[in-house]
Amino acid sequence: MDCIDPARWAEDVAFMAASRPPGSIHWQKVQDRCAAELEGAGFVVERQDYGSGVNVIGTREGTAAPSEVVLLAAHYDHISGCPGADDNASGVAGALEVARALGQATLPRTLIVACWDEEELGLRGSRAFAQAFTGAKLAVAFNFDMIGYASAAEQSQIFPVPLAERFPGLADELAANKGRADFIAVVADPSAEPFALELEAQAESLGRLTGVMTLTDAEKLDEDAFGVLSLSDHRSFWELGLPALHVFDTGVFRNPAYHCTVGLDTADKLDHAFATDVLKATTAAVAAAAGL
Ligand SMILES: [Zn+2]
Repeated sequence: MDCIDPARWAEDVAFMAASRPPGSIHWQKVQDRCAAELEGAGFVVERQDYGSGVNVIGTREGTAAPSEVVLLAAHYDHISGCPGADDNASGVAGALEVARALGQATLPRTLIVACWDEEELGLRGSRAFAQAFTGAKLAVAFNFDMIGYASAAEQSQIFPVPLAERFPGLADELAANKGRADFIAVVADPSAEPFALELEAQAESLGRLTGVMTLTDAEKLDEDAFGVLSLSDHRSFWELGLPALHVFDTGVFRNPAYHCTVGLDTADKLDHAFATDVLKATTAAVAAAAGL
């Protein structure tokens, strides 16, 4: 956890945040930055061109069980006509910072850190990767999508009634926290829950309130009831029965600038202390998942 450097994360966010719809000049620069940073962190980098888009895949082979894989990823594309600092420069920069931190460690299992394309166009990049992933066993996939926004203002967090009814313990914790939008949210399927609980324990050891929402296998693909919890790339893995968890700031339920709805999603609005806690807790959880 001590290897996490918030300044490097902030530098990457500042570089990436501008508008970057797929195929644009800045989209290409962000894709190149993903590749360069992963290479610099000691990963073998491949660009997966799946037809309509390009994923960047960095692999560090495990020393003891190389066929067992832990994945950490974030989407680097964004909608057109809107900067995307929280969504999802924060997550891509976060995945790269965790890669730099763990690039210094000897990991028994293989670690893949990836930057997905075309999440905003229907999870295309992550789905292409998940469908092509054969020959190895996926221990768990960690997904970052919006990890940089927080507010200490009371009642700044929206927690919709159906979620509050499904997760009453978490609803009570959030009420006791006076509705402040400053906790880390984690969504998991049952097979990823142990990794989510490890992340929660690590974050709470830093004094950061964290809420884990585990959906049953029946619930996780139920778009009518729980679609708001599967709006990002972790869904691509759930669809194939693979373990995945989603780490985020609750996105649209917290950040008014989500997709530039109210104001622009720019880097100056991000909370560096919040993101730092996400990165530290995730680094520890990924390291544990990778057998460290
Ligand atoms: Zn996103």
